[in-house]
Amino acid sequence: GKGDMHAEVVVLGSGPGGYSAAFRAADLGKSVILIERYPTLGGVCLNVGCIPSKALLHVAKVITEAEEMGSHGVSFGKPKIKLDDLRDFKDGVVKQLTGGLSGLSKARKVQVVQGYGKFTGPNMIEVEGDDGTKTVSFDQCIIAAGSEAVRLPFIPHDDERVIDSTGALELKDIPKRMLVLGGGIIGLEMACVYDALGSKITVVELMDQIIPGADKDIVKPLHTRIKGRYENILLKTKVKNVEAQKGGLKVTFEDEKGEESTDTFDKVLVAVGRKPNGKLIDAEAAGVAVDDRGFIAVDNQQRTGVPHIFAIGDVVGQPMLAHKAVHEGKVAAEVCAGEKRFFDAKLIPSVAYTDPEVAWCGLTETEAKAKGVKFEKGVFPWAASGRSLSNGRSEGVTKLLFDPEDQRVIGCCIVGTNAGDLISEAALAIEMGADAVDLGHTIHPHPTLSETVNFAAEMFEGTITDLM
Ligand code: FAD
Repeated sequence: GKGDMHAEVVVLGSGPGGYSAAFRAADLGKSVILIERYPTLGGVCLNVGCIPSKALLHVAKVITEAEEMGSHGVSFGKPKIKLDDLRDFKDGVVKQLTGGLSGLSKARKVQVVQGYGKFTGPNMIEVEGDDGTKTVSFDQCIIAAGSEAVRLPFIPHDDERVIDSTGALELKDIPKRMLVLGGGIIGLEMACVYDALGSKITVVELMDQIIPGADKDIVKPLHTRIKGRYENILLKTKVKNVEAQKGGLKVTFEDEKGEESTDTFDKVLVAVGRKPNGKLIDAEAAGVAVDDRGFIAVDNQQRTGVPHIFAIGDVVGQPMLAHKAVHEGKVAAEVCAGEKRFFDAKLIPSVAYTDPEVAWCGLTETEAKAKGVKFEKGVFPWAASGRSLSNGRSEGVTKLLFDPEDQRVIGCCIVGTNAGDLISEAALAIEMGADAVDLGHTIHPHPTLSETVNFAAEMFEGTITDLM
């Protein structure tokens, strides 16, 4: 039967995956309803993820660069931080973007229904909103319910001094000493912000390196830099307990030898990963299978086991990244509209927007070795780049991996300022099947950081002549 409302395509969740799918489906002529529990569109990414974190990271970069200008002969005073104004700047950026999405929805006649949606059947979602409950029926549905921060059982999450990334982005205060639990991308980005604002940071990570997904040699320049700025970076260390005390949060660590130690922090930021929201939407009522962890399995057209129901973004698996969600959203919408479209991307780039940034795409060296994939590499240290020296930031490295058979690019890892912007050239090279000569013979503007990609290809070919 029909619900109180009906659309050909109903999208559940308005994050980057959901709004991209809704807009694409509408552009292809479908009637579309977009269901979102929160009053603003944009999901985690726009409201409490990618965008607010980048606004704060921009400010952090300016502060730390200004601090370091002393060695170039220019000194500034200690920054005066007006937390309310900084928060306003960040909120303004978010508001502009989420407001923009509302406008774009109206322009496309995508109907937004606010409230919490749950499946009640294979063609029906019940939405509980402020103005009551309504049923929304559909011919096809795209699940884009996203993910939320993982909580740990031995941590007092209800204590206001324990925060996740959302809490960190709220910028309530600048703690004196903060523990960042988890040395992955999200934890390190927030560490970067609070360090610049004046907190003393300790990072604790279970693995033997920060950003475990990236190659060790690529992470090293970041590690070295933050080691000099932060109070402590604890690797191969487990947090066993966090106890809320009057004077602070007492944290018990266990190192690799099994030895325990304790320390007390003003705040603990828990950034140990994110879990999918798949279990929270009664997917079984529609016959959609959700695994133990909350992920929904899909085929290469983003279809779940139920042919008219699709799923995209964080809820379908790793990597949990906005650009992956957007790409999958467009694939799902186009398949809904009858187009023969597949998810056939060769790579999904990853970026840590720390300072320096760490970016990688295609195969990393660690992955290639683990999988037994043969490769050769071209590595260019930025100490020989005129631009990075001029920027006073020559700690970067650009590394390209090539297939030894045909010299095609199969992977790229970059660490250095703006690495996130530089990685796209390698992504295009891999998608296009470009080889070392293509990258080496393409004239890059001088002096730019983008030249380091060109130089890494030339290092591999042995044709590099003039550095700097
Ligand atoms: P989400 O963005 O999670 O959106 C899901 C939406 O669905 C939410 O709005 C939610 O309210 C809604 N929803 C869920 N269930 C229901 C329901 N039952 N009824 C109604 N509505 C529902 N990625 C990057 O690529 N680059 C970055 O720089 C980056 N930075 C990040 C920084 C932080 C601090 C965090 C936390 C994440 C960051 N990410 C980044 C990850 C990125 O935010 C996610 O990968 C992306 O938002 C996933 O998009 P999505 O559409 O799958 O889901």
